[in-house]
Amino acid sequence: MVKQNIYEEALSLKGEMSQIDITIEEAAELIQRLIKYKRINEGYDKMLAIENITEEMVDTLIMIEQMIVTFDVKKKFDEIKVKKLERLRMRLDACKEGKK
Ligand SMILES: [Mg+2]
Repeated sequence: MVKQNIYEEALSLKGEMSQIDITIEEAAELIQRLIKYKRINEGYDKMLAIENITEEMVDTLIMIEQMIVTFDVKKKFDEIKVKKLERLRMRLDACKEGKK
């Protein structure tokens, strides 16, 4: 089954507000896992922390992709992403220039 179809079916069966709630929950879970990673010196296992972060990144990415379908913003999303990556490239170049 194609990813787009899965997302459309999830949206159709569960509804927009439910999918927005799940997106918020998954983003919050990723935030929690990243905070825990910063505390690995306090006894948290690093490999387990990275495994947990990876799982939450996947969960969050899937929900972001669903939001793209929900709001029908694929073209705009890609345009903004290109612009932001270009801006990051320019900032990195400026940073390197500053170090010369
Ligand atoms: Mg999760």
